[in-house]
Amino acid sequence: MPMSAAFQARLFPLLPQIAEHFGTPFHIYDEAGIRATARQLQAAFAGISGSESESGFREYFAVKALPNPRILAILREMGCGFDCSSIAELRLARAAGGRGEDIMFTSNNTAPEEFAAAAAEGGCILNLDDLSLVAKVPEMPELICLRYNPGPARDGNSIIGNPVEAKYGVAHHQLLDAFRAAQARGARRFGLHTMLASNERDYRYMVETVKMLLDVVEWVGAALSIRFEFINMGGGLGIPYRPEDAPFDLAALGVEAGALLEQFFRRNAYVPRLCMESGRYMTGPHGVLVTRAINRKDTYRTFIGVDACMSALMRPGMYGAYHHIDVLGKTPGPDDLPVDVVGSLCENNDKFAIQRPLPPVADGDLLVIHDTGAHGSAMGFNYNGKLRPQELLLREDGGVELIRRAETVEDYFATLNFAPRQWRPGQQI
Ligand SMILES: *Cc1c(COP(=O)(O)O)cnc(C)c1O
Repeated sequence: MPMSAAFQARLFPLLPQIAEHFGTPFHIYDEAGIRATARQLQAAFAGISGSESESGFREYFAVKALPNPRILAILREMGCGFDCSSIAELRLARAAGGRGEDIMFTSNNTAPEEFAAAAAEGGCILNLDDLSLVAKVPEMPELICLRYNPGPARDGNSIIGNPVEAKYGVAHHQLLDAFRAAQARGARRFGLHTMLASNERDYRYMVETVKMLLDVVEWVGAALSIRFEFINMGGGLGIPYRPEDAPFDLAALGVEAGALLEQFFRRNAYVPRLCMESGRYMTGPHGVLVTRAINRKDTYRTFIGVDACMSALMRPGMYGAYHHIDVLGKTPGPDDLPVDVVGSLCENNDKFAIQRPLPPVADGDLLVIHDTGAHGSAMGFNYNGKLRPQELLLREDGGVELIRRAETVEDYFATLNFAPRQWRPGQQI
């Protein structure tokens, strides 16, 4: 089931009052659910022991999934590091207390300013996306990670694409040269990263990824006398967006990945730490978009107009993604008629649902759009002058906290307010 019964039980009784107090629309996140998932992740990988005193597993939350400092602080309390790929995300991770090896910087098409930001403020674990970047890092850190793209050896999925077509990572035939070049520039500690799929609910795909990384580590390790400190299997763990979807079997991944690491240890007398950088799995099911029905239109179809639009949630318009919808206080039944749930943006793909059977919706009803806790608010935008909504946190103590205010028209105009400035041909640069 999409949103958990526990989250519903915590949220739904309070929702009319929350909507009254804060106004709609808003994303609201469930602190208890986020903490529970972080604990489940720790438990699933608890059997993996590290080489020395360190734990053998760590999650680096993919900041792009839910870049809110309040959420990052909760995840840090739960022991997570952060995976960043922009200067703003580095700043968010550091503002949440992440330092040094708590942060991975997994950029691609990396710019000089990004290298500088990654090295600043105590640095971070640098994850290089290409052979050519090994020479471009201004100062090679002691610990360096490379992103591996296996090419035709693996299938990707619809969101990330076929590895051969994907823009990410170092190709198989370049990998030895890349690590050798990093060694020549002074790197002494090494990691290997990959990210091949997104929203994958079959845990066996992730087991294959761990196996692939361990095989590569064994091959490169033997060729260059490297003991890899960690492998990073990327994110991409899927969540059930549809009621009939099976959940990801986290426990099975923990057991089978643990067995692969154990076998690696027997062959090599050491074992790299297992890292993961999940976004969606950590927060996706623990957020919902709450929006009010404001118009109903019956033409060739029935359209339910709500007060949020795709500026708050792009996934349905962008990927045709399914997000489950509840009409607060109304139970689905066999007589429900299909409707399109639409925003007010002048694009016909501004629809949260298409021909979805819903109980009869009246103006003023609250609609709860599930699973917006990852890649929801974060993907928002301002096209057509639409503004991004506020974000709220349903705390474990039952209180509700505003953790991002709604955008205002003044925010929209902020980049249009500046000192007049011109350049003419012939003028000095
Ligand atoms: C987007 C992204 C993630 C997180 O992906 P999820 O599908 O949300 O788990 C992790 N790592 C990298 C490099 C990414 O780009």
